[in-house]
Amino acid sequence: PKATTSNFIKNIIIEDLRTGKVDEVITRFPPEPNGYLHIGHAKSICLNFDLADDFSGKTNLRFDDTNPLKEDVEFVKSIQEDVAWLGYQWDGLFFASNYFEEMFNRAVLLIQKGKAYVCDLSAEEIRKTRGTLTEPGQESPYRNRSVEENLDLFMRMRQGEFGDGAKVLRAKIDMSSPNINMRDPVLYRIAHATHHNTGDSWCIYPMYDYAHPLGDAIEGVTHSICTLEFEDHRPLYDWVIRECEMEAQPHQYEFARLNLTQTVMSKRKLKQLVDEKVVDGWDDPRMPTISGLRRRGFTPEAIRNFAREIGVAKSNSVVDVKMLEHFIREDLKLKAPRTMAVLRPLKVVITNYPEGQIEMLDAENNPENLEMGHRQIPFSREIYIEQDDFMEKPPKKYFRLFPGNEVRLKHAYFIRCEEVIKDENGDVIELHCTYDPETKSGSGFTGRKVKGTIHWVEASQALPAEFRLYEPLLLDQEGEKDGSFLEQINPNSMEISAGFVEPTMKDSKAHDKFQFFRHGYFNVDPKDTREDRLVFNHIVSLKSSFVI
Ligand code: ATP
Ligand code: MG
Ligand code: MG
Repeated sequence: PKATTSNFIKNIIIEDLRTGKVDEVITRFPPEPNGYLHIGHAKSICLNFDLADDFSGKTNLRFDDTNPLKEDVEFVKSIQEDVAWLGYQWDGLFFASNYFEEMFNRAVLLIQKGKAYVCDLSAEEIRKTRGTLTEPGQESPYRNRSVEENLDLFMRMRQGEFGDGAKVLRAKIDMSSPNINMRDPVLYRIAHATHHNTGDSWCIYPMYDYAHPLGDAIEGVTHSICTLEFEDHRPLYDWVIRECEMEAQPHQYEFARLNLTQTVMSKRKLKQLVDEKVVDGWDDPRMPTISGLRRRGFTPEAIRNFAREIGVAKSNSVVDVKMLEHFIREDLKLKAPRTMAVLRPLKVVITNYPEGQIEMLDAENNPENLEMGHRQIPFSREIYIEQDDFMEKPPKKYFRLFPGNEVRLKHAYFIRCEEVIKDENGDVIELHCTYDPETKSGSGFTGRKVKGTIHWVEASQALPAEFRLYEPLLLDQEGEKDGSFLEQINPNSMEISAGFVEPTMKDSKAHDKFQFFRHGYFNVDPKDTREDRLVFNHIVSLKSSFVI
């Protein structure tokens, strides 16, 4: 065992191998292609692939595509991209829809055995007669149709003779079972709809509870891992495998799904955000989708380490989103060059610096990783600093620039604020400062100390850049709640500013990542960056109080 730490599913596998119940481990990741994958799916992906890998087993990517109305090839494509980007290579690439013929034949077998029947009740009537936890269900008046009649009707359902909802195929199990899932569940429904894979060849489609166990059995999956809400479905899963007389004997195991604070984690709601243009597509950097996290600047390593750290449990809980942020910081700490960016520029003229002169200053690329070497950054009479780093009337303990005060410019000199230039509205538009050549960084100057160090960018060579700063999409701390979901959306989840970065970043490419001095980690946006203007997505700030 390599990648994963101990967990209850792993212990089951160890035991199954020891007793000879299985002789190899086959898992699957089974998304429905009805949306993009999110960070919750990443937990399931890591779990399935890592577990199989621990035992030199196999993992299939299987599209559970049994609902033609919501599925699309766009999603099939994005899901493959995301799984591969996370760093996993599937053994088999399968579609549940490629098993439709076999599933149909197994349904015919159920009918022949008297274990399934065609029912004419509407969806509403079926729901009403299903009973409750305390009351048994009522048997359908169609429950005792003969095998011949059922075979004939099921065939005619397939041939398209009946409209949507006119008939369903139901398992004949037990209307008084304490488990409502066992009260003659629907196995097939009619839907005259074009399927992304099978086109118009079918107008009846198997339900998840029927298709899923059969898909697992057909592929020889040994350990079928799903989320806790399916625990009550397990008896039906076993019933389908047994009554359809499948040769392979997969078993279902349930684990707690991932919930994150301040994060929407349902495909249906994420789709609503996309469709109603609350966000700019599935890969908007504010989205908790894998593609959104990628565009934001998260790395596969950070997501995998996060998934491993949260582990698998048997009870639901909400994980603090700060923990995910902790892992991206950890991953980028030694990898990302530390450069300077001014997000909201204020011009500074250094009046005693020679006009027209540009000198190159030495800057370390990453003091925590000396192998990243050094770079040369220009310095001259005109620079930009951050608007926030100047205050005309500073409060106590403000150690940055104010009239008469001296600060250190990172990698450069001490400067002192001599004069404040304002426009006709009284807004500060420029500062006039003086510098002290004795204080050059690296010169060993010890004559006097200053309390503040600020960052800057030389004005004539500065590269214009756009910075996108994010806040959580949800206002609430506790993750998704019931009620009107769109009302919980944070109206200020993105703030855009226009500023500058140092010229050393001229050849930055999509997805290059930097730590901007004092601002935190940023990713070069892969969609909106143009040759004359870099766009940076804020990944995460520098510090957090979060400890694992
Ligand atoms: P959603 O409820 O967000 O629509 P889903 O469960 O319907 O998700 P599927 O495409 O059916 O999405 O999921 C594929 C796999 O990912 C399933 O095995 C499912 O259990 C797992 N999965 C989905 N959401 C989570 C989550 N939040 N945490 C862990 N696993 C998840
Ligand atoms: Mg779903
Ligand atoms: Mg699902």
